[in-house]
Amino acid sequence: MEQKLLTQLKHTFGYASFRPQQQEIIESVLDGKDTIVLMPTGGGKSICFQLPALLFPDTTLVISPLISLMKDQVESLRTNGVAATYINSSQSMDEQNHIIQLALEGKWKLLYIAPETLVNSLNGWISRLKVSCVAIDEAHCVSMWGHDFRPEYTQLADLRNYWGDIPFAALTATADKATRKEIETKLGLNNPNMFLTSFDRPNIRLIVKGNKPKKNKQPEILHYIRSKQNESGIMYCLSRKETEEWSSFLNDNGIHCAHYHAGLSSEERSRIQEDFIFDRIPVIVATIAFGMGIDKPNVRWVIHNNLPKNVEGYYQEIGRAGRDGLPAEALLYYNMRDVKLLADFARESNQREVLIQKLNRMLEYAESPTCRRKILLSYFSEVVEEDCGNCDVCLNPPEFVDGTTLAQMALSGIKRSREQLNLNVLIQLLRGSKSFEIYDRKLQELKTYGVGKDWSADAWQHFITQFINIGLIEIAYDEHFRLKITSFGERVLFHKAKVNIAAFVKKTKKSTASPSTGKTKPKVLHANLSEQESQLFEQLRALRTEIATKENVPAYIVFSDVSLLEMVAIRPKSATKFLEITGVGAKKLEQYGDQFLEVIKKNG
Ligand code: ADP
Ligand code: ZN
Repeated sequence: MEQKLLTQLKHTFGYASFRPQQQEIIESVLDGKDTIVLMPTGGGKSICFQLPALLFPDTTLVISPLISLMKDQVESLRTNGVAATYINSSQSMDEQNHIIQLALEGKWKLLYIAPETLVNSLNGWISRLKVSCVAIDEAHCVSMWGHDFRPEYTQLADLRNYWGDIPFAALTATADKATRKEIETKLGLNNPNMFLTSFDRPNIRLIVKGNKPKKNKQPEILHYIRSKQNESGIMYCLSRKETEEWSSFLNDNGIHCAHYHAGLSSEERSRIQEDFIFDRIPVIVATIAFGMGIDKPNVRWVIHNNLPKNVEGYYQEIGRAGRDGLPAEALLYYNMRDVKLLADFARESNQREVLIQKLNRMLEYAESPTCRRKILLSYFSEVVEEDCGNCDVCLNPPEFVDGTTLAQMALSGIKRSREQLNLNVLIQLLRGSKSFEIYDRKLQELKTYGVGKDWSADAWQHFITQFINIGLIEIAYDEHFRLKITSFGERVLFHKAKVNIAAFVKKTKKSTASPSTGKTKPKVLHANLSEQESQLFEQLRALRTEIATKENVPAYIVFSDVSLLEMVAIRPKSATKFLEITGVGAKKLEQYGDQFLEVIKKNG
């Protein structure tokens, strides 16, 4: 069995081995068992129903909520030589009838179908179709509690009455227990086999940039995006207005980008989405409305301009980077104003407690000086023993120092000013600033005025943020962000309780060296190519673009960056060698092999 599956995997998809759990999942489905698959974005869920579909005698129905996702998967299957298609209400009646006719003749191995189309045709043509398996993609859409509830999905409960004895496979990247249970009951699954893989995405470097004023943030982000020439990335903003402002700022500075939000017409939105997928626009500045329904594997970076509302959302958004497994980066910026705004929204909701708690967890992630991946994965109930080696904390570990005296300075500044100051004014007080705010309130007369002048404002920001995190100080969001002393803070101030904090490290240019701990080290780095290698890479990329344009598909459907980088590394000179490349199966060898081999040979 195993050999048979591996042969099929290579023949059709061009992969030499399975990713964790893929084989077990495929065997479960082929065994006729109902199967639930919980795997992170980019984990490789598609193969889990596509490969069994090739081995089943009849058609596999794939239910998918979004037309763009269906189209993408079908195109990718077709370039691998699989008889696949989709049917949904965007097609003309003639088109649909043609597809149905071929379906009834048993032509399709995989038929992607929108949930409403399926439910509406259950008593019609579908009842005459021979079906071997039903796969439900994005299965969390049945969950009322989830973030993408789709009413059409609840009607799928009926399906079991039509097909009692074929396997159902439900797949999702949402892992929480409540959703899992709902998938099982709402879809009427029979004692399903459940597969839960790790949600770690080790190739995504997690970087928290922190709380920065806009005047520092703008040049920093501009510099970052400039250094990522030709690479795709997404910058998320909180409001529509912000997406427009950032997009025009970036465009004015020579970055080709577009903004995207729910206020644009649906034509504009699809056009921008397509331009991104086809690599015509590399950078999108968007609200979180952007990304769902995009399977683009070569998104190399995601920047958050604001703190996300919760960790689930954050993880989903950064998960859009690096689906191809190559190195990718997630940068998080935030400021206290956003936090206040989000807290206000949360307070007005009827789920107040939960939302505030979730927001606090997100803030903790951003502010605690421990391995970011540990915090993220522990949020999803995964225990991680070792630090990841691929986040800003691991790469630049903070040194811990005794912060008791610093804490006392800050706390006594707050105390003596009767808890009336926000963070900025407190820092001015400690540093002995001669600003208007200070003189206006006569703060220069306090004993704490200027006690912290040996430290820069950045340093104080860093210290006080930690005092807030470890619970010495609270921010009264509803009182103009004034800082208040907690009971723990009182103990430090009056009873000399000790405080340890991460030392302040003056920000210098970070080295671009890759992490030293080997575990998560990416296989190939584009940035690490020699001059000759990048030349070949660019030539291969140009050929890929030419073919993709001719066939009117996104470049990654022809070959992924992973495949191109392997071609550069291995430089195959024969068809047999070319077949060893990841992503090259029988069909792609036949269709594209000669053209790519020629470019490689010419390059020497
Ligand atoms: P998901 O649906 O879980 O987000 P996909 O099915 O789109 O993930 O797969 C993500 C990426 O991983 C794709 O580029 C796919 O081609 C690749 N992939 C999947 N399985 C394998 C495998 N066994 N070997 C190599 N690459 C794989
Ligand atoms: Zn780490």
